[in-house]
Parts: sequence; C-alpha cells; structure tokens
Amino acid sequence: MKNLVYFWKRFMLPHLALFGLVICTGMIAAAASGAGVPFMVKYVFPVVFRGAGSATPELLTLFPSLQSLSPDALLFLACASMPAIFLVRGVAMWGNAVMVNILGIRILETLRMQVFCRVQELPIAFLESRRKGDVMSRILSDTSNVQNILTSVSNDLIKQPITALCSIGAFIFLLVSSGQGVLFLVNLIFIALAAWPIIEFGKRISQKSQRAQQGLGELNTAVQQNLENQREVRAYAMEKREIEEFRQVSNRLMTNIIKLVKYQKALVPVMEIVTALALAFLLVRGRMCGLTLTDFMAIAASLFFMFDSMKRAGTAWNRFNEAQGALNRLAEVMYEPNTIPQPENPRQLEGRAKGEIRFRNVSFGYEPEKPVLRDVDLTIPAGQIVGLVGPSGSGKTTFASLIPRFYEVSKGAVEVDGIDVRDLNTHDLREQLSLVGQQALLFAGTIRENIRLGRMNATDAEIMAAADSAAVTKFLGSQPQGIDTELGQGGAGLSGGQRQRVAIARAFVKDAPILILDEATASLDAESEREIQEELDKLAQGRTTLIVAHRFSTIRNAHRILVFDYGRIVGDGTHEELYASCPLYKELYDRQGIE
Ligand code: ADP
Repeated sequence: MKNLVYFWKRFMLPHLALFGLVICTGMIAAAASGAGVPFMVKYVFPVVFRGAGSATPELLTLFPSLQSLSPDALLFLACASMPAIFLVRGVAMWGNAVMVNILGIRILETLRMQVFCRVQELPIAFLESRRKGDVMSRILSDTSNVQNILTSVSNDLIKQPITALCSIGAFIFLLVSSGQGVLFLVNLIFIALAAWPIIEFGKRISQKSQRAQQGLGELNTAVQQNLENQREVRAYAMEKREIEEFRQVSNRLMTNIIKLVKYQKALVPVMEIVTALALAFLLVRGRMCGLTLTDFMAIAASLFFMFDSMKRAGTAWNRFNEAQGALNRLAEVMYEPNTIPQPENPRQLEGRAKGEIRFRNVSFGYEPEKPVLRDVDLTIPAGQIVGLVGPSGSGKTTFASLIPRFYEVSKGAVEVDGIDVRDLNTHDLREQLSLVGQQALLFAGTIRENIRLGRMNATDAEIMAAADSAAVTKFLGSQPQGIDTELGQGGAGLSGGQRQRVAIARAFVKDAPILILDEATASLDAESEREIQEELDKLAQGRTTLIVAHRFSTIRNAHRILVFDYGRIVGDGTHEELYASCPLYKELYDRQGIE
C-alpha cells in the first residue's frame, strides 16, 4: 500500500485536474447505471404500462405537475427517458474512457522517464548486481503494468464502488418501500459471499503476478545475453544449449502466467453464481410475499447492478493486485538508496583541474567483508604518467575506478586537486577525466558523433584535429562516407583497433586533465597495439595518466610504476628501482620477457 501511495502522489497528483474529470465522468456513468435503471423500471415503466382504470403511477404522485401533461406527451417523455439515461451514461463512459487513457499514457511517460533517470543516477554497483535484461524489463514492462494500476485501479476502484453504492442505495430503498426487510438481510449474506473471492483471489494474484514479472525479466535477460553474444554462441556451437535454456525460462514464465490467469478468470463466474443465487432467492421470496412484477423487476435490476458493479470492482482489485508485483519491482529501483549521493554544498574546482590525485589511507571492497584495496596511501602529482601493474585481480582497475567515484571508498578519501571527490558534484568531477577501456564503447551513429561525445560543443575543426591525432583519419578513406559513416550498435562496421582509435579521438576532444587507460590495448593484436600505443603516448602528454597495464610495453613511458598485490601497493618507483627492489615486479617483468 505504501508503494501505491508513493506512486499516486508522485505520478497522479501532477494530473489532478484530469484525474478530477475522470472521477466526475465516472460518477455520472455510475449513477446513471446504478440508480437510473432500477428507477426507470420502478417508476417510469408503470407510466407506460398502466391499464385503464389502474391506480395513478407513483411517478405522478411524486411529481404532480406531470399530471397536467397530455397522455401522449407523458408517454413520449417516459419512452424518451430510457435513451436519455443511456445517452448520459454513454457520453460519460466515453469521456471517462478517453480521459483514463490520456491519463494513463501521460503517467506511463512520466513513470518511464523517472525510472530511466533514476537508473542513470544509481551507483554502478546497483546495476552490476542486476542483470541488464531485468533492469530493461523494469523500465519497459513494469512501468507499463503500473500504468494499468494507476489508471484502471484509480478509475474502476472509485467508479465501480460508487456504482455499487448507488445500486445498494436503490436496492435498500426499493426493499424498504415494498416492505422486504428479510430480503435485505439475506442479501447482506450474499454480499459477504461475493466479497470473499475478491479478497482471497486478490492475494494470490499479487503473488503469482510478481513471479510472472520476474519471469519476464529472466526472459529479457536470456534474449539480451543471447543477442549480445551471438559470435560466442555460434563459435562454440552453443545454439542447442541456448535454445534449451530459453525454453526453460520461457516455460517457467508460461506456467506462472497460467497460474495467474486461473485466478484472474475465476472471479467473474464465482460472482455470477452468487448473483444467480441472490436472484433465485428473490424469485422465491417474491413469490411467497406476492411481490408485484414491477417491484420484482426493479429489485432484480438494482440487485443485478449491485453484483455487477461488485464484480467489476473485484476485477479492478485483481488487476491492482496483479500490478502490485510490478509496483514492488519498480519500488526497488525508486527507493534504492543512492550510495553515491551528490554533496549538498559541492565544492568547485577552479576551472580546469590541475590533475593531482591523492589516495588518503583508502580501503575499499565491493562487499563489506571482502576488502579489495587496503590502506592505499599515495599522491600522484599533476601531469605524472603512472603505470599500474600486478597480478590479475590484485585491484588495479578498482583503484582507477575510485577516482571518477564509480564506487564509494569504505575508509579514507580520494582527492583530486586536494578536494575529496565526495565533495565535488560527480558531473564536474567526471568532466576532468577521460577513460579509455579495453573494449572501446561506441554508440550507433556516425564516427563524427561518436567523437563528439567527448565534448558536445566541439567544433568540426576540433573533431577533425582529434581524429587526426588519434589516427582515425588514416582509415577514414576506406569508409563509405568518411567521418560521417554510420556505425552499427557498439560500433559494428569497424575493427577493434579502429574502434579504439575513435575512443582515443573522443578522449582528445574531451581534453581532460586526468586520463585513465584501462588495458586500452589488451584486446588488440601486436601490430595494432604498436600503432595505437603511439596515439596513446601522445594523448597522455601533459595529463595525469593512469595506465592499467596488461603488457609492460604499454608503460614504457611511465614516470612511475605502482605494483599491486592483493589490494596493497607493494612497489612504487621507476622501472629500474622496482626491478632492483620489488621481487613481484621482477617476477612479472621477467615472465613477460620470456613469453
Ligand atoms: P585487476 O584490475 O587488478 O585485475 P580488479 O580491480 O578488476 O583487479 O579486481 C579486484 C578484485 O575485485 C577481484 O577479486 C575481482 O574479482 C573483484 N571485483 C572486480 N570488480 C568487481 C565488481 N564489479 N563486483 C564485485 N567484485 C569485483
């Protein structure tokens, strides 16, 4: 319920006027069906069907002024009142449905945007702990489900109970006016009988729906992983295994949906059986008490509308429960505490940072009990080129990831130009940093657009200069539209080395004072590596550069080398110093020399 209140406040309140109209039209439609029809049967039909010499119909006693009308006019009025009521009902229902949809579409848009924006600001650790497909399904499918709740639930859960209340009011009035107290009491039991499946099924539907939504997330993940890794799938002939895995996930989803559907669809027949029982009882009782046909018909109509609206309210309640699952999954994203919050009063770097980096006694672990970096304490002066070496898993990448504040230190502080990164707006901090990773990440778009991502306001001349510095221009000739060649998703259409060059050009355009090269050439062949190394050396000039080194050749220009071992820095110096004093460094270096 807390989730519903939160979402209601956040997403419905901004559309209060529209929501008010939805409620008004819903109430008009509800009153027209719940009370209008039984009153037609009780008061208007007798005006039409009165026989010669029969008593004056109640309507004329209630409204004596009608008696002055001619019989034909009265008949016309009586006959016209039915379509009039249905006209009011129809127009109100139409307006209601259209506005509910507009409301729903607007809310879906806001909701989707807010969840997407939230995902952008949540710590990387949150996204790493979840599968991409699952996050995608939350953004796309769960939001759409929640939209259903907020609209259909808010509308139907208000409109249908009002209809039910109107028809219960009409029902009580009719029963009291025809002296049927017993019928009223017995029907209370039927009402209770009808309420039970609504509540019971609701609970089960909520559970089953959460499972179905989870299943949808798993299915998304399976599809996404499969599409992303098609090369591996084919190369290792994993198609059959993939199909089998997909079949299992898909079957699980199907089973969960079938369970859900069973409960969803049970409510209507159960409610109809209760309605039929109540009507049968009314027939028996009516016969025993000598109820007139008019009274019977009026009571039966109000009874029908009463149970019908209860049935509809129950169906809406079920849908609400069904979407509760989605709501809970969305709440996990919306309520997730931001472990990397923006400072309340951020400190400013004065213009471009100088690029001095300081680790003050830093410890960090991805999980609380497993430290990955321990008591790291050092200063990297502005403009220094530093190589990070050490066995795989020793913490080099983690060390570099703390500078852009991708993760929060557990102890100590990381400072840029003497300012704790936690006191800087993360956007300002990351402006001062370029990152070139192992796999160049390119987006679908032209080569020019991909370079411009480094700095959106870069001029074409600056982009061309960067392309030149990164030797992108060398291969532009072989591209159909040169720098305006469209790339596929992930930069498809370029070789690994070419992609890496575009990424380097992006870093040239950004021209940030701090540069992190995380095994930037590790995935390239020796030839490409040698070529790209030149561009990287050029890029590193004049910047504080951290090179997470896979091969020692990539740190030949480093002013200083840090040797990592089990999260500690066990060596810090130049190549010559370390080779003489650090056994681990010597061992790693010699091993590569032999290879
Ligand atoms: P290196 O760059 O020296 O190979 P990393 O910094 O990548 O080492 O990893 C250090 C340790 O942290 C390893 O034990 C690795 O398994 C773990 N690790 C790295 N990234 C994550 C992550 N995103 N979540 C959890 N553990 C991680």
